[in-house]
Amino acid sequence: MTETTIIVGAGPAGGRCAEELLDAGYQGRIILIGDEPYEPYERRPLSKALLAGAVEPARLMLRQAEAYRIEGVDLRLREFVSRIDRANRQVLLRGGEKLDYDRLVLATGGRARRLGGKDQHVHYLRTLDDSLKLRRNLEDAEIVGIVGGGLVGLETAATITRLGCAVTVVEGSPTLIPGVASEELAGHILDLHRRCGVEVLLNCRATDFLAKEDGAQLRLSDGQTLLLDVMIVALGVQPNLELAVSAGLAVEGGGVVTDEFGRTSDPNIFAIGDITMQWHPVFQTRLRVENQASAYAQARSVATTLAGQPSPCIEIPTFETNQFGISIEITGLVPPNARMIWRGHPAVGPAIGFVLHQGRLIGAASFNSGREMRALHYLIAEGIPLNRDALANPHISLSALTGGAVALNDAPIDQPFDPLAPF
Ligand SMILES: Cc1cc2nc3c(=O)[nH]c(=O)nc-3n(C[C@H](O)[C@H](O)[C@H](O)COP(=O)(O)OP(=O)(O)OC[C@H]3O[C@@H](n4cnc5c(N)ncnc54)[C@H](O)[C@@H]3O)c2cc1C
Repeated sequence: MTETTIIVGAGPAGGRCAEELLDAGYQGRIILIGDEPYEPYERRPLSKALLAGAVEPARLMLRQAEAYRIEGVDLRLREFVSRIDRANRQVLLRGGEKLDYDRLVLATGGRARRLGGKDQHVHYLRTLDDSLKLRRNLEDAEIVGIVGGGLVGLETAATITRLGCAVTVVEGSPTLIPGVASEELAGHILDLHRRCGVEVLLNCRATDFLAKEDGAQLRLSDGQTLLLDVMIVALGVQPNLELAVSAGLAVEGGGVVTDEFGRTSDPNIFAIGDITMQWHPVFQTRLRVENQASAYAQARSVATTLAGQPSPCIEIPTFETNQFGISIEITGLVPPNARMIWRGHPAVGPAIGFVLHQGRLIGAASFNSGREMRALHYLIAEGIPLNRDALANPHISLSALTGGAVALNDAPIDQPFDPLAPF
C-alpha cells in the first residue's frame, strides 16, 4: 500500500517540502493543506518589491497551483486543519473531513502579533492580502507610522520612504532588531535609516491609538501624538503552535521541539519552518529562527529523510534583508553584546562584521558582501581557529581563511552603495 504524507501549512516551508519530496523521488501520496487562498508563495517581497509595486503577486508563487496537480500533489487551499488524532494517525479538517496519514509534516508558521483591542484600522504585514491592502492605502498617504523596529518593520520603512512618504518607526527597546542583531550591528542599521530620512524613536512605546476615517492618531510613551495617514504594526510573529500543543507534542521556547532531522517528539510527525525549535548540530543547541533559507533547508532535510535518505539540517541560519538597496545578511549567532570585528565600514561600502567566540567564528553580518556567504558558513560550521587581525584585513581573502576549501570568489562586488537610488 502506498503511504501518505500530509503537510499542514502551504507557506514557503510546506510548499518547498512538497517540491523536495518530488525531487527526492518520494513514492507516496502527498497532500498539502493550507488555509490561505493562494498556492505557496514567498513572503520576502511583501515588505519590499511587492509593496513598492515593482512585482506582481504571480511572481511570488513557488509554482502555479496547476503544476502541483500535474505532479500528483493533492493541494488543498482554503482548508484549515483543526486537530491531529495521533492515535489513529488522522488530521481533522475544520469542515469535518478526516484524512489518514502515515507521516505528518507541520509547517504552520506564524501570524502577525497584534496590538489588541479594536485594531481593524491598522495594517499588519504577514500575508499577500496584507501587503496588497497596504499598497493600495499608501497611494494617497504622506505620513506613515510603523510600530516595531524589527526586520520587517525596517524593510517596510525603507520601502515606504523610497516611495516618498515621511516615515516614523517606534521601537520600545533601546536598540533596533532586538533579539536578532547585536547592539553594534543594530547601530549601523539605525544610522542607515536615519541617513535616509527615517525618523526612528527608540525606548518609545505606542500607548494608545485612535483610528479615524482618514488615518490614525498614535499616542506614544514620550508624550507625543503622531497624526498618521497610515499606521503599520510590525511587532513580530506569533507562532501557530495550537495544533502541536493540542496534540501533545513537545514545545519549548515558542517552537515545536525537533531533532536535526526535523522529527518531533512523535516519530511520525515532523516540523519545519518558523514553528520549529530545532537541534542544531553546529551550535549544539536548539534554535528557533524565522527566515526563509532555514525554512527551505529544513524542508529539504525532512523531504529527503521521508524519501528514505535521512539527512540532517546543518544550514547556518541566515536572515537576508534588503533595505534602501543594501543587501544585509545576518548569519549564525550575533548575541546582543557581541563586539564585532569589521572588514570595511557599513556606512561607506561593502563590509562584514564578524563575531568571534573563543577564537572561532560563530556569526557575522554582511553589507553588500553576499558573495562571501559560502566562506562565512564554512568558517562557522567547521569551527576553524581565526584571529582578529586576519578577519579585519581586506587583503586576506575569506577563501584563504577556509584553507581553499571554499573557492576564491571572484564574482563582481555586489552593487556600489547608493542607498537613495530609486527601485
Ligand atoms: C513581510 C515579510 C518579509 C520577510 N522578509 C524576509 C526576508 O527578507 N528574508 C528572510 O529570510 N525571511 C523573510 N521573512 C520571513 C519568512 O517569510 C518566513 O521565515 C517564512 O515565511 C517561514 O515560512 P513557513 O512556511 O514556516 O511559515 P509561514 O510563512 O507562516 O506559512 C505557514 C502557512 O501555514 C498556514 N497555516 C497555519 N496553520 C494552519 C492550519 N492549521 N491549517 C492549514 N494551514 C495553516 C498559514 O496560514 C500559512 O499560510 C519575511 C516575512 C514577512 C512576513
